[in-house]
Amino acid sequence: SDLPFYAEGKVVKGFGRGSKHLGFPTANFDEDVVAKMPSTMNNGVYFGWANVDKGPVYKMVLSIGWNPYYKNEKKSMETHILHKFKEDFYGSQLKVIIFGYLRPMADYNSVDELIKAIEGDLSKASTLLEKPSALAFKDDNFFNADK
Ligand code: ADP
Ligand code: MG
Repeated sequence: SDLPFYAEGKVVKGFGRGSKHLGFPTANFDEDVVAKMPSTMNNGVYFGWANVDKGPVYKMVLSIGWNPYYKNEKKSMETHILHKFKEDFYGSQLKVIIFGYLRPMADYNSVDELIKAIEGDLSKASTLLEKPSALAFKDDNFFNADK
């Protein structure tokens, strides 16, 4: 398995597919980061830890999938951090440790279904990250190390 997987890079603007209006903004990694991901890593929803510009480490849920904006020829990696930030952080350095896999990507018939699925992901991720084996990664030196 490729997990846990360490990734870091700049947060760029997405293409309005983000679900900020639903209450689940997703910080998009720039395409260099996406290009460096192992091809063996399946598309889908993952969970782990994240920090922004060497700040506090929070739980996160991350999706790896195809970007419709580029006719699904480009992969995107989007991280929702389980923390309420005062401001957006476009241009910041985002670090993630992708610890586990939750599910494949899915299509939903309604916004309600989508919201239920995301809420399920967040609650599962939150519980799984409380296990000692997962908690250990929260203090990983990676999060405060210079590049
Ligand atoms: P975009 O399509 O530009 O990615 P989103 O609606 O997905 O727009 O919002 C993502 C942006 O919201 C991030 O790039 C970041 O600057 C900001 N943001 C604020 N709070 C969070 C959070 N808890 N998790 C992820 N991004 C957040
Ligand atoms: Mg987004």
